[in-house]
Amino acid sequence: MEKERLQKYIARCGYTSRRKAEELITKGVVQVNGRYVTELGTKINPDIDRVKVEGKLIHPPKPLYFLLNKPKGVITSVSDPEGRTTVMDYLKGVDERVYPVGRLDYNTEGLLLLTNDGALAQMLSHPSAGVKKTYEVRLKGRVNDDHLTTISEGVALEDGITSPAELIDYGFDAKTGLTTIDITIHEGRNRQVRRMFEHFGYRIQNLKRISYGGLNLSGVKRGAYRSLTDDEVRQLK
Ligand code: URA
Repeated sequence: MEKERLQKYIARCGYTSRRKAEELITKGVVQVNGRYVTELGTKINPDIDRVKVEGKLIHPPKPLYFLLNKPKGVITSVSDPEGRTTVMDYLKGVDERVYPVGRLDYNTEGLLLLTNDGALAQMLSHPSAGVKKTYEVRLKGRVNDDHLTTISEGVALEDGITSPAELIDYGFDAKTGLTTIDITIHEGRNRQVRRMFEHFGYRIQNLKRISYGGLNLSGVKRGAYRSLTDDEVRQLK
């Protein structure tokens, strides 16, 4: 692992904020490998160095990774001032703090990752990572082929033209009168999939993220979650 600033490490271990950690360092209550350190620029190797704060050995929290099948009508947030159901309400039995990686709209269901690994979450959320996200879009009526071509090549939205998307599959069900389209995008703009279809006047009936970074919802019922395996975490990195 790369070297890390001591105050950042103390904050990452959950001992206190970065600013408070700086105060503790200058106060002279932080030891690295048994020696008191008061220099704010000090860097440590988190894999090797032993850090004690006020006499207590500190450790970073165990990294946790969860895959949730978010239902509709749930907000992607850690808490809600209005008291609405959040994705956290579905992580029963998880006592550690974890955070959603990106977000799904209130009315979008499907695959959402949650973790306490801030570095991975940041990496995955960064546009340059181009993480593949596949959505199942359900619309009333039939869809015009030319519209689908434009959607896959790039749609001019108010925040710019969308990057090319892959049309995986689509079909019209005469019984229900609904078209289902599976589409993969590499960006994560706000309400992007809805806006790409609304641009042509379509109203999305149901939107579900069925895959994210090569992971899918297989075996995870709506409202349920599971931990990622070590291999899956490696695959995301
Ligand atoms: N695109 C949307 O429009 N909504 C989501 O929740 C995710 C992608």
